[in-house]
Amino acid sequence: MSRKKSPAFANLTRIMRDGYMDFHTRAANGAFVAWIAIIVPAEIFAGFDNVVYAVPESHAAMSAGRGVGAIQCEKAEKLGYSMDLCSYARIDIGTAFDNGKDSPTMGLGRPNLLVSDNNNCSLLVKWFDIYRREWKVPHFILDVPFCYGPQKPADTLYIVEQFKGLISEIERLSGQDFDMEKVRRAMEYTMEGLTHWKRFLEFAKHRPSGITVFDSFVQMAPFLTLRGTPQFAAHYKMLADETQQRVEEGDFPVPNEKYRLLWDNIAPWHQLRAMSKRLAEMGANIVAAPYTSCFGSLEGAHKLYPYKNGDDPLAYLARTQNNTVCPYGLALRKNALGRAIEELGIDGVVFASNRSCKVFSLMQLDEKMAVEKKYDIPCVMIDLDHADVRKYSESAAFLRLEALLENIESARS
Ligand code: SF4
Repeated sequence: MSRKKSPAFANLTRIMRDGYMDFHTRAANGAFVAWIAIIVPAEIFAGFDNVVYAVPESHAAMSAGRGVGAIQCEKAEKLGYSMDLCSYARIDIGTAFDNGKDSPTMGLGRPNLLVSDNNNCSLLVKWFDIYRREWKVPHFILDVPFCYGPQKPADTLYIVEQFKGLISEIERLSGQDFDMEKVRRAMEYTMEGLTHWKRFLEFAKHRPSGITVFDSFVQMAPFLTLRGTPQFAAHYKMLADETQQRVEEGDFPVPNEKYRLLWDNIAPWHQLRAMSKRLAEMGANIVAAPYTSCFGSLEGAHKLYPYKNGDDPLAYLARTQNNTVCPYGLALRKNALGRAIEELGIDGVVFASNRSCKVFSLMQLDEKMAVEKKYDIPCVMIDLDHADVRKYSESAAFLRLEALLENIESARS
């Protein structure tokens, strides 16, 4: 029986398309344009009347998903950028220096300000700095301390001071005034959306699971480009409600679910459909990934880190700079995986060693050994690149995935 059409997936396409249209229209009409890294808190930009932002990493993921990732990578490589650099960077450089040609969104235009951070990786700072050099655009770099445990109060203050510096810089460059009340409103929309996002992810606990990790990968997009908006809040409510209804009606993505798996690393954007279909045919469902459950949480936890009306938005945004996995030390990563394995009843873990994202991949062998020892469940390491399809072999990956399922089966018998 095929699944019903999903209004939430249709809505995702609509709000993302409208978001890019709005970005281009406002930029063409004189809005101040920032390009930001994904961890830069977008809610800050809501404090200005006419500032729009684009997220090159999000655009790169979308390009890979639409099958043009390798095309843009090759353009960057022809300009002399190494094939060993992160494919997000190569896709963005290829798109930017070819004026948006082949992009699913007509590119991202040109920014008035670049805002990066060294939270996820230092490559990102170097990548954004190319545009500072080539286009003479100011580049604001947020320095976020690495994350070995709960953020220290001094680190929170250090980040808040940098946010204040960023706000002053935008005021100076754009001539616009900043209004903290607007940021407070944006925070409420973000929090409402995050509450529903967590509700959506909880359906992975159901047997069979109400979701696949591929659903949550796709549904992450508004986190990057629409945080702090009514559309963000409404979309995640719609998604969680729809998933709840499907579960109640017995409509599951992998109804014959025999193997519940966990994914470790960034999404394989060019393989979402092919990989999920082939796994489902084998009764395997990758139900979750720390990469998607980290939004709205801190330091490897799953539960929502709440923002209450009246809290200082900048302090909250600084504290939540510790949400993503890349800047975690090994102990936090092991905690995040362990929590998922226990809470979701995981049978095996797929460690996707990512040729692009060295910071995500470097600790995976240690994580794999730790998981095998502590939980005594089979794990496998596959090779891929999250956005450059040229560095992925489906036959090699599935040889190992099939072996993983066999190992799970023999551990049961
Ligand atoms: S190397 Fe990893 S963290 Fe850095 S930009 Fe690429 S995907 Fe993001």
